Amino acid sequence: MEKILNYINGELVEPTNKSYFENFDPSNGTAYSLIPDSEKIDINHAVAAAKEAFKTWTKITRKERSNILMKLADCIEDYAEELIIAESKDNGKPESLARSVDIPRASENFRFFATAILHEQSEVHDMDGKALNYTLRKPLGVAACISPWNLPLYLLTWKIAPALATGNTVVAKPSEITPMTAFLLSKICIEAGLPKGVLNIVHGYGSKIGDVLTGHPDTPIVSFTGGTVTGKHIAGITAPMFKKISLELGGKNPTIIFADAKFDKTVKMAIKASFSNQGQICLCGSRIFVEQSIYTRFKKEFVAQTSQLLVGDPKNEKTNLGAIVSKDHMEKILSKIKQAKELGGTILTGGERQIIPGDLENGYYIRPTVIEGLSSDCIINQEEIFGPVVSLIPFQNEEEVITLANSTKYGLAASIFTENISRGHRMASEIDSGLIWINTWLLRDLRIPFGGMKQSGMGREGGFKSLQFFTEPKNVCVKI
Ligand code: NDP
Repeated sequence: MEKILNYINGELVEPTNKSYFENFDPSNGTAYSLIPDSEKIDINHAVAAAKEAFKTWTKITRKERSNILMKLADCIEDYAEELIIAESKDNGKPESLARSVDIPRASENFRFFATAILHEQSEVHDMDGKALNYTLRKPLGVAACISPWNLPLYLLTWKIAPALATGNTVVAKPSEITPMTAFLLSKICIEAGLPKGVLNIVHGYGSKIGDVLTGHPDTPIVSFTGGTVTGKHIAGITAPMFKKISLELGGKNPTIIFADAKFDKTVKMAIKASFSNQGQICLCGSRIFVEQSIYTRFKKEFVAQTSQLLVGDPKNEKTNLGAIVSKDHMEKILSKIKQAKELGGTILTGGERQIIPGDLENGYYIRPTVIEGLSSDCIINQEEIFGPVVSLIPFQNEEEVITLANSTKYGLAASIFTENISRGHRMASEIDSGLIWINTWLLRDLRIPFGGMKQSGMGREGGFKSLQFFTEPKNVCVKI
């Protein structure tokens, strides 16, 4: 089986203990490669290499850094087909999704931040001619970047690109569940001529090496995307060390549909928001609130179209939902569906594992599932499931739906569908959410502040917010 290797100090290396564990293809449930079971010593080597590389990387001009990152983006495009196939095989997502979203976004992340650093401005505060303050922004050193399995290369590069562009060096830890495209990125970095030690990628269990990385005295900045529980744990480690941290965490996002919304377009968009990437996107809308007067009509059409979605071979261009990322995660989702039934919920469609006969019969597939009849405060409608499972909940009026939408501990994203634009603005202002879409979902502009409130995270990344996060402002006051 192919061995994935760590990328430390510009080289592909085995973990020091030469120990590996299996990496599974979720589409058929078989192990197909080996992942380094890295330990503290590997993280220490990577941090030491990044610390050394920082001395030179931070001194080259931003134009030089920009050129190198643009070359990385070019190389990702050159290897796009290989990356698409690898991402789909490792994660279970349809190749069509990796082709249209994941891999183009990975190269775009590098292009975006490689050019953003050429257009940055700094602040000046004039003290009425008596003195002048100006703000320098300096990189911090070695950034620890930790990313999840749902959008593996997309989210890894979303962190690495701004960290490197601003002159930091990086030690990254991808999710052990989906390490393959990070490994391919290591090879791309070597080919593109990224100076050694500037980016280091260490594979292994988060539970084993995560704390070593986030608690390392030489990683003053930590960018994490993942679950709320892990985020809380990382905050506990980093806070007493006064590290700069950014946490992008879970969500239980509302999709709010008013009777005046354009019906057909809204049904289609609600399906996309519910089941894209098998519902494994932090921004997916898993609580669908529908105005009472159109509830029955909406339910009928939504359920009819959901039951038509094709679940199966990620390689098939017609597939709508591929495999769930792992056996453990599939079982967790199925147990939540079982719990929903026990709590009195009605499964309107789906609700079970799908077996694909033939080569894929051991794959981890779940039919897209729609639940009705559970109250908004029920655990199923409060906790993130992170799979192809949504709840339908009727509402009477604007005031009620705002209360319901805000009733969870999360506050990441919300979508509102209405043709009454004044109402759209009112709702947007009242809903506790870092990201609000009106009459759309997941329409992304890389310049916007991205992130959640409440237990969906801390801080914002995206655009100049990322450049600010990965730099420390330093005020210089000059007496005139
Ligand atoms: P986890 O929190 O389990 O893992 C995220 C990453 O953290 C993985 O690389 C994991 O490694 C690592 N990790 C685990 N334990 C530690 C530790 N003690 N210290 C440091 N790192 C650690 O999340 P999932 O991978 O399961 O991802 C799904 C979650 O991510 C969902 O809750 C989802 O909502 C959230 N998410 C949020 C987004 C946002 O922008 N707000 C975007 C995408 C996802 P390993 O896998 O090896 O254990």
